[in-house]
Parts: sequence; structure tokens; C-alpha cells
Amino acid sequence: MKFVIIGGGPAGVQAATHGARLGADVTLIEKDVLGGAANLWDCVPSKAMIATGAVVKMLERAERIGLPSHRISPDLNELRKRVKSITDKLAKSYDQLLGSQGVRVIKGTGRIASKHEVVATFLDGTEEVIAADAILVATGSRPRVPEWAFVDGERVLTTRHSYPPKEIPSHLVVIGSGVTGVEFVHMFRSFGSKVSLVVSRQQVLPSKDPEVAAALEADFLESGVHLYKGARAVGIERTADGVKVICDDQRTIDGSHALLAIGSVPNSEHLGLENAGVFVDRWGQVPIDHHCVSNVPHIYAAGDLSGKLQLASVASMQGRKVAEHVMGLDGRQHRHLDYEKAASAIFTEPEIADVGLAEAEAFAQGRKIRVTKVPFASNPRALIDGDARGFVKILSDPATGVVLGGSIVGAHAAELISVIAVAVTARLRVTDIVESVLVHPALAEALAEAAD
Ligand SMILES: Cc1cc2nc3c(=O)[nH]c(=O)nc-3n(C[C@H](O)[C@H](O)[C@H](O)COP(=O)(O)OP(=O)(O)OC[C@H]3O[C@@H](n4cnc5c(N)ncnc54)[C@H](O)[C@@H]3O)c2cc1C
Repeated sequence: MKFVIIGGGPAGVQAATHGARLGADVTLIEKDVLGGAANLWDCVPSKAMIATGAVVKMLERAERIGLPSHRISPDLNELRKRVKSITDKLAKSYDQLLGSQGVRVIKGTGRIASKHEVVATFLDGTEEVIAADAILVATGSRPRVPEWAFVDGERVLTTRHSYPPKEIPSHLVVIGSGVTGVEFVHMFRSFGSKVSLVVSRQQVLPSKDPEVAAALEADFLESGVHLYKGARAVGIERTADGVKVICDDQRTIDGSHALLAIGSVPNSEHLGLENAGVFVDRWGQVPIDHHCVSNVPHIYAAGDLSGKLQLASVASMQGRKVAEHVMGLDGRQHRHLDYEKAASAIFTEPEIADVGLAEAEAFAQGRKIRVTKVPFASNPRALIDGDARGFVKILSDPATGVVLGGSIVGAHAAELISVIAVAVTARLRVTDIVESVLVHPALAEALAEAAD
């Protein structure tokens, strides 16, 4: 089975390693860095910067744990080096992993030439035609810049100019209050920037549980973030000393810098998809079925290009599922990916994480559920660590006790949600969590309490 993959992000790397393990002859073409945009631009650099910001904030609040407080500013050169060194280390480890599995990695650009041929253009411009029984296109996405905006990389930025920017903005105007927007609000606030957030609806994180969004809003307001609710940005101008963001309700916001965080555009151009008759929708995404197959049976799409949940974790799992389908694994060895059961997190402070059914969703469906909620305020470990903000909420089926979903707001929520994620996937009951003997003192004890 000759399996050719275009794009070495989470979807491409996982499909390549899993495919090779299952016996495929795999070629992976990546034009930039292994690990993809997730490693170079998105998950890794943003979380590395947020980790530095967390230490800045911890020092600021050190009196909570019996130490003198300090206000310090990050050294941008050191921060830049640190971000790059993590990306390099991860890219190297992917390279070693792929090499050890016998995957051929081509550094260059891939393009579909016909239904069973992919052309790789190497960095020196030479080309090779590679025969393929199956093709995966996993070329990711890039930040969206709407027609009313521009990006100069100096004052008007996308996330890709932020690792770190040339200077810490004195007043950053963030446009977009989805996951990326709020993470960057939190990041720059922790570095000491004044931050204004343009929120097009009445709630930050419009797609999240209102109680969860309210907890984040409360933290933003307490830390001095200015929220411009119900305002849609329609223009940006450069001014003598910064930028002016213009909103559709006539409000204007003067800042030193603006950051666009309003979604992404799939990288579906120049891939030769038309040469194999692969359908691309009007958003530039490649629609797929539950096996990640496009309209052409042996051509797959995964990750951000496929228009499903835009998460590195989902992209990786799609890659794994593609490899299994390519290798013809049957129903016993191969389960469909259930997007409804994907856990996700928002790396703000407090952290936010959720999985499965949300309370508002159950309410809208008129579904009977049991909801139990426990605050961290009475959790010994949270009090010891000096951060007892937030709560754990678990949703279960009142008749069977099966765990249907949950949300966590608080320190280490992204780690803690794993317990609920496993419970949701494995259809465990609340009693399975309650009767597990957990570590004390640990934040996870709040999960067992909430499940009780
Ligand atoms: C700021 C930010 C933070 C994020 N943080 C998180 C997070 O914390 N957790 C999380 O789960 N998700 C996060 N995401 C989302 C996550 O980054 C994406 O969902 C994920 O990267 C998608 O993976 P992918 O495999 O589709 O492609 P990508 O990671 O985008 O990789 C695609 C690769 O394809 C290569 N490529 C493109 N065209 C070609 C071609 N013609 N030939 C060869 N190679 C090509 C590119 O160079 C790139 O390396 C974040 C997104 C953003 C914007």
C-alpha cells in the first residue's frame, strides 16, 4: 500500500507513523516544519508564551503562598529563543520517530498531479512524481484576514506575529473573542499590556457554556481587561502612535497594537485537488465522511482542511483513523472518531476545559440530565496552591449514571478533564469515578466529589 501524505502537522505525522506501523509504504511531504503549524505557529508557541506569563502572574501574587510579590517583565529575546528551541526539539523528535518507522520524509511542497500521482517539489526546485494508492491531504489552515483589515506585522498583527512581537504592546486591542482571542488577551495581560477585547456578541466564548464564559469574563474584568460587547470591528487605521479599531456601532478603540483573532482559512489552494476531482466547498474546506474520505474514495482529508473541530488533538486522531482505513482495518480494530466526545481546553487563567454534552445543549434538546457541581474553594490542594478559583461540573444520565460530559474551570483544568473524557468515551458511570481511590491532596478529588 503506497500511502502519500501532504502536510506534516498533527494529522499528517500521526497518519504517517500509524500507517507505517500497520505496514504501509509511507511518504510524507512537508514544506516547512514537522509538527506543522501546531508546532510552529499555534499550540506550542502560544502555550509556551502563556507558561511564561503564568510565572509572571504567580510572582505577582506570591504573597498568597507566603512569599514577597514581584512584578517582572519577560525578556523578549530569551522568550523568542525559548519558543524556537521547543519547536526545534519537537520537530527533531518527529523526524526521529518517522525515521524509526521507515517513513520517507520529503522536505518540499506536495501537489496532486492525478488520481494516483503526487508531485513533490524539493527545496532546490527539482521534482519527483510519486505513485500513490491512497493520498491524505492535511495542509492545515492560516489566520483569516478579512477584507476590512490589513496586517503589517508591526502594529496590526495576527497570532503568527506574536511569538513574541518586537515589543510588548502598551495597549493591545484583540479582535475576536473565541478561544484564540481570549488566550491572547490572557497572554498579553500577564505580560503587563493594557488589553481591550472586541466581543461581537454579548458573551466571550459564544459557543461555550454561559457559566463557564461568565467565570472567564469575571477574571478579565478583575484584571482590568476592557470588554467592548456587541461590537463588530469593521475597520483598522494606523495612527501616529498606534492603531484605531473602528466598530459597527460607531465606537472606536485607540491602542498601540491590534491583533486579529477571527478564525482561519484552509490551505486548499495550489494542491492540485482539481486534478483528481476532489470537491472543495465555498469555504475552501474539503468535506469528508466519517472515515475522513473526500468525494474521491482513496483521497482523504484531515485536520483543519477538513472543516471539523479545529484542534490538533482531533487532527491527530483523524490521522490515526485515516491510516486504519487505508490499511483496511475492520470494525473490531477500527472505531469511528466521535467528534462529540473530543475534549478541549482554553489556556486562560483560570483554565477552562470541557468534553461531551454541555448543560445548555442538554437544556436546548429538552434532555433529562443530572448536573452536579463542586467548587474548588473547598478543595485542600487548591487552597494549598493558593488558587481556589473555579469549579467542576459533571453531567450524567439520571437513569443509568453514565457520564455524558463535563466542564472544569480552574487550575490544571486541561489535565483534569482527561478523567471525564475517558469516562465519556468508555461510557463509565459516575460511581466508577466516585469509587476510584484518588490521591490526596489533589485537585482531582473535586472530580470524585462532583460525580457523587
Ligand atoms: C493560536 C492558535 C493556538 C492553538 N492552540 C491549540 C491548542 O492548544 N490545542 C489544540 O488542540 N489546537 C490548537 N490550535 C489548533 C491547531 O493548531 C490546529 O487545529 C492544528 O494545527 C491542525 O493540524 P493540521 O494537521 O490540520 O495542520 P497544521 O498543523 O496546520 O499543519 C499543516 C502542515 O502542512 C504543511 N503544508 C501546507 N501546504 C503544503 C504543501 N502543499 N506541501 C507540503 N506541506 C504543506 C504546512 O507547512 C504545515 O506544516 C490552535 C490554533 C491557533 C491558531
